[in-house]
Amino acid sequence: MALKLFNTLSRSIQDFTPLDSTGKKVGMYCCGPTVYDFAHIGNWRTFVFGDLVRRTLEFNGYTVTHVMNITDVEDKIIKRVRENKTSLRELTGKYEAAFFEDLLALNCKMPHHTPHATEHIPEIISLIEKLIQRGIAYKAADGSVYFSIEKYRSCGCTYGQLLKLNFDEMRAGERVKSDEYAKESVADFALWKARVPDDGDVFWPSPWGEGRPGWHIECSAMSTKILGPSFDLHVGGEDLIFPHHEDEIAQSEGATGKPFVKHWLHGAHLLVEGKKMSKSLGNFFTLRDLLAKGFTGREIRYLLLTAHYRETFNFTLEGLQGARTALARIDECLGKLREVAGTSPKSKVQSPKPDDPMIQRFTQSLDDDLNISAAWAVVFEWVRETNKRIADNSLSAADAVAALTVWDKVDSVLGIGAPAEAEASAEIVVLLEARQAARKAKDFKRADAIRDELKSKGWVIEDTTKGPKLKKI
Ligand SMILES: [Zn+2]
Repeated sequence: MALKLFNTLSRSIQDFTPLDSTGKKVGMYCCGPTVYDFAHIGNWRTFVFGDLVRRTLEFNGYTVTHVMNITDVEDKIIKRVRENKTSLRELTGKYEAAFFEDLLALNCKMPHHTPHATEHIPEIISLIEKLIQRGIAYKAADGSVYFSIEKYRSCGCTYGQLLKLNFDEMRAGERVKSDEYAKESVADFALWKARVPDDGDVFWPSPWGEGRPGWHIECSAMSTKILGPSFDLHVGGEDLIFPHHEDEIAQSEGATGKPFVKHWLHGAHLLVEGKKMSKSLGNFFTLRDLLAKGFTGREIRYLLLTAHYRETFNFTLEGLQGARTALARIDECLGKLREVAGTSPKSKVQSPKPDDPMIQRFTQSLDDDLNISAAWAVVFEWVRETNKRIADNSLSAADAVAALTVWDKVDSVLGIGAPAEAEASAEIVVLLEARQAARKAKDFKRADAIRDELKSKGWVIEDTTKGPKLKKI
């Protein structure tokens, strides 16, 4: 079975076939963060979903070029720069660094390209110029440049490809300058925003005067620069369908006359404790808030990956406890497998057999529009059976090595890896060092007392050939 994915363009599940004539290369663009604050757990659901798409494509043998832009100039950013009395670069630099730290904490693969809007002003200007030349964009009296929906439609192009829009309710000549607006106010949108006092020193020269780009044009300019006028996959949260993605299509197809993206994939919303996330309800979490509560990036990733991407997901702290238990079951099984495998050389088994039933069933689940619940069911059935075989002593060392190879292949998609080893706080590390010093001094009574203290704090010491290691109980 080939990989099938739901395409928002056709509102149906379709076979995924890349545009590349060899059928091997895939270009994928994910709308990246707007770096004015820490990304919240709803944002992270989308980014982890994007990571799952990339890993699934690679698992299927495709060579993926993964692009994720950094929106470092936009309405919300400028507002925050003004409020914080800081500079654009200082604000966006801080939150961009935090974003990549969080991305790694969730074990998401680094995109191959992370273009910045502020570094693509010439490309953005030339795209707007092209739209003006084609008569689809115009300069308004305030010096801003707008995209003309009417002109675009009169060229035979469709505005409203990802969702149905009611043009009868549109007021002719209406236009909107802010980056975010509702579909009830479908209107000409800003490509270039003329400089206003509130922009402070955030502006660039352009053929239309000083100003800055609109948010939507940034993505069209950066995606087509790196991936070409037409590419395979565009991923984002469903909240971006309108206006952001619809405007991306209009700008790109308006400028190039070519179909922009073949498959549009959108991830659904996330609720927290059954409600829309909001600071006033106390259910607003950044990744850092959850890490501070003692959960690991691995547990959060696991939980985010338990629901199908097109379903609204209710993220709860109880769910995170469940994630911890589920991961412990997998870890325990893998630990036992490693014991059985002993020193058997893993190099003999480079990759699992293609007809391995676990791999086959896992692949089938993912190929079915990323049916992750079915994929996890396959994993836990495998854990149960493997545990049974270990308990029966019917698993040889070679079998264990093969099973671990199967797991590695499956985990290349799930990305949950092994539990982190170095998450101990400074206090715990100091205790470990004190125990080492006591042992060196042959003060075994003190060494044992420290070991017990560590245990009471939830850590055990494993003495390995490379020295002692801390392990969370
Ligand atoms: Zn975008």
